[in-house]
Amino acid sequence: MPHTPYPPSFYAASANPAPERPPLRESKHADVCVIGAGYTGLSAGLFLAEQGYQVVVLEAARVGFGASGRNGGQIVNSYSRDLDSVERSVSVNEARLIGAMAFEGGRIIRDRITRYGIQCDLKNGGVFAAFTHKQMHHLEQQKALWERYGYDQLEVLDQDAIREIVACDRYIGGTLDKLGGHIHPLNLALGEAAALESLGGIIYEQSQAIRIDRGPAPVVHTAQGSVHAKFLVIAGNAYLGGLVPELAAKSMPCGTQVIATEPLDGDLAHRLLPQDYCVEDCNYLLDYYRLSADKRLIYGGGVAYGARDPADIESIIRPKMLKTFPQLQDVKIEYSWTGNFLLTLSRLPQVGRLGDNIYYSQGCSGHGVTYTHLAGKIIAEALRGQAERFDAFASLPHHPFPGGHQLRVPLSALGALYYSLRDRLGI
Ligand SMILES: Cc1cc2nc3c(=O)[nH]c(=O)nc-3n(C[C@H](O)[C@H](O)[C@H](O)COP(=O)(O)OP(=O)(O)OC[C@H]3O[C@@H](n4cnc5c(N)ncnc54)[C@H](O)[C@@H]3O)c2cc1C
Repeated sequence: MPHTPYPPSFYAASANPAPERPPLRESKHADVCVIGAGYTGLSAGLFLAEQGYQVVVLEAARVGFGASGRNGGQIVNSYSRDLDSVERSVSVNEARLIGAMAFEGGRIIRDRITRYGIQCDLKNGGVFAAFTHKQMHHLEQQKALWERYGYDQLEVLDQDAIREIVACDRYIGGTLDKLGGHIHPLNLALGEAAALESLGGIIYEQSQAIRIDRGPAPVVHTAQGSVHAKFLVIAGNAYLGGLVPELAAKSMPCGTQVIATEPLDGDLAHRLLPQDYCVEDCNYLLDYYRLSADKRLIYGGGVAYGARDPADIESIIRPKMLKTFPQLQDVKIEYSWTGNFLLTLSRLPQVGRLGDNIYYSQGCSGHGVTYTHLAGKIIAEALRGQAERFDAFASLPHHPFPGGHQLRVPLSALGALYYSLRDRLGI
């Protein structure tokens, strides 16, 4: 049988010790079968196991193999499109519910870390950095918008204030989200997997779901076994491929790339980011970066529509890093990797049911560390019969990409080019 290891990355190289779980080689029965051991699947599994459900998770590769083990590690509140987009898309009541949940994912992560003693280098504080007055205006509007939903942890930074936080003279200001922050993403996933197992959940690695028999008693098949469950949770996101055609038809996998420098001299690391906050800029195709616990700069950016894996990641991301921090000219890059997130046309997540016993959430479109933790919770609630919050998300419209399967990649790339040009021109 093929064995899929973690792709080489700084996170895989610095992962906490974790067992290799054996593949499924039998016919199992469970209350819930979860497909995918990323944050969505682990969060749903953990909430359900806490409620006494028997949970089996099938993972095609390793726990956190997908975006959850490769991301920038930034705890970003709200969603990839902000609450004003939500307000334009659904009824007042549903917008109110979704808005009230926009800051819950970060709380869930912190609660998991504390409750299960997960070692994943949590640091508080995330910065949104603006290049233009238009972006600054947008950040001020975002602060007012979040305050309408009761969130008062954003602080506006003028040019002097942001320079105290980031040693980069390209920004004209920004905001600090005191309850943003950062983590070692793979270690968070590994800790959540261990927590799930401590409650009796079973995770099978190297166990790709290859067929689903839908119906009143659904069955998920892998190459060597099967799971009979009362409920299924589909959480394969950008790595799901064509297993569920209706989910593939309305979303598009996209790649984004990350590099990690060698550990920086303590003084240099402190000069770059004295408060150790993470940063993302406000461009449509944004850069994001932070320090690791061992003082590497972890720098990500760029989007490959359609999730092509670029041949030389360093040559794409290093120039972006040097534009932000020319001080790092002589610093070595020790790791580079790529990962896929799932884009939707609205850039809001797609949540729903297939029949009455299969639940899914996908497509958080770039910002998913917090949302996926929330998604697990609302799926668990819905499965237990409390579906009000799940249904609010499910009411967000799911649009197919224009151009269908053939043209969605070039059309999206063209759209991104247009928005990047606007960013560059400051309009
Ligand atoms: C490089 C990168 C940087 C990012 N940075 C940030 C960031 O800093 N902050 C932020 O908020 N968001 C970030 N994101 C987005 C965020 O990481 C994702 O939204 C989130 O991790 C998605 O979690 P998930 O569980 O839905 O999917 P994934 O983590 O991708 O998990 C899906 C899992 O399902 C498994 N799977 C798929 N199909 C099957 C099958 N048929 N059978 C069994 N298993 C299957 C896969 O192997 C995979 O492990 C980033 C994404 C990437 C790629």
